[in-house]
Amino acid sequence: MSVYHWQPASRQRHVLPGPRGTYGLEDKATALCGELVEVANTEAPARFWASCEKCWEAAKQVDMSATRPR
Ligand SMILES: [Zn+2]
Repeated sequence: MSVYHWQPASRQRHVLPGPRGTYGLEDKATALCGELVEVANTEAPARFWASCEKCWEAAKQVDMSATRPR
């Protein structure tokens, strides 16, 4: 089963592969949208960043049942 989670990164909320907690602050990771993003602090105000549109589309194609966008 594939696992993904929503993660604030590069000023948006992207979907990253792996369970929550896989990445540390400022780690680089390739999001579902294909962008190389820099992981941000998960505390406010990052919680209120907009979700990446491309990640939304990509998330529909994978099993996101283990997580929620917010
Ligand atoms: Zn994205």
